[in-house]
Amino acid sequence: MSESTPKRRLPPWLKRPLPAGGIYNNTSDIVKNLNIQTICTHANCPNQGQCWSRGTATVLILGNICTRNCKFCSVATGKPQPPDLTEPARLSQMAEGLGLKYLVITSVNRDDLADGGAGHFRDCINVVRSKRPEIKFEILTPDFRGCQSEAVEILKDALPFVFAHNVETVPSLYKKARSGADYRQSLNLLKMAKDKFPDTPMKSSIMLGIGETDDEVEQALRDLRSVGCERLTIGQYLKPSKESLDVVEYVTPEKFDWWGKKAIEIGFNWVISAPFARSSYFAEQENTG
Ligand code: SF4
Repeated sequence: MSESTPKRRLPPWLKRPLPAGGIYNNTSDIVKNLNIQTICTHANCPNQGQCWSRGTATVLILGNICTRNCKFCSVATGKPQPPDLTEPARLSQMAEGLGLKYLVITSVNRDDLADGGAGHFRDCINVVRSKRPEIKFEILTPDFRGCQSEAVEILKDALPFVFAHNVETVPSLYKKARSGADYRQSLNLLKMAKDKFPDTPMKSSIMLGIGETDDEVEQALRDLRSVGCERLTIGQYLKPSKESLDVVEYVTPEKFDWWGKKAIEIGFNWVISAPFARSSYFAEQENTG
């Protein structure tokens, strides 16, 4: 935002209570003591108070430095470290400490690794699963640019309960918001994963408020359905750092409800559409709506 641009006032429905309470502190202590990275913190997620107070957090594996520089995201860009081989065991301790039944794992983009980091996803799942076989995993993966078929092949050895990859926005805004990515490439990953794992639900997420039109959003939802994606979250983009893209519009809760109904009409069977919906928000919920 330029100096002369007036700061947008947050509408009342986007005010969130401050985090508090014993369960929040317990989650925070376990995460800190085990040196676990979370996307909740790195993306300045507005739901951290609520999710951590429910004893749930989304872990960010493969470091906290991303090889891309998406303008909607506040995760740092640079040259990442090699995968930390102690990470799977630390995640396992976290799962034990929090008594998790559902764990969402995501990562930064690792374009520096030949497999895009897929092998480390597999190792994390397998180590946690060996200790707590009852846990359901949801993975929110990068687009595995340049190694999609290898990555999908690797992940067959650690099949999650839900496979997620976010298109994030409509294709016309990729240059502005997600310059290192390609919309078709993201759809292709979901299609490849669905073809390979037909019984695994595919999930994606889209943010509103970056400048997309309704027609573009509807087309994106139809595109997602056409590659076999069944689960969807739609949420408000909120500028996570000073350097990130400005918000173009605050979409009303009523409009989110409308999109939720539209998504069901288009054929999704699990939808959370709300201002604070994020990919991992209430991910463990069996049914929505
Ligand atoms: S919505 Fe996801 S990223 Fe945000 S606090 Fe909850 S678990 Fe973390």
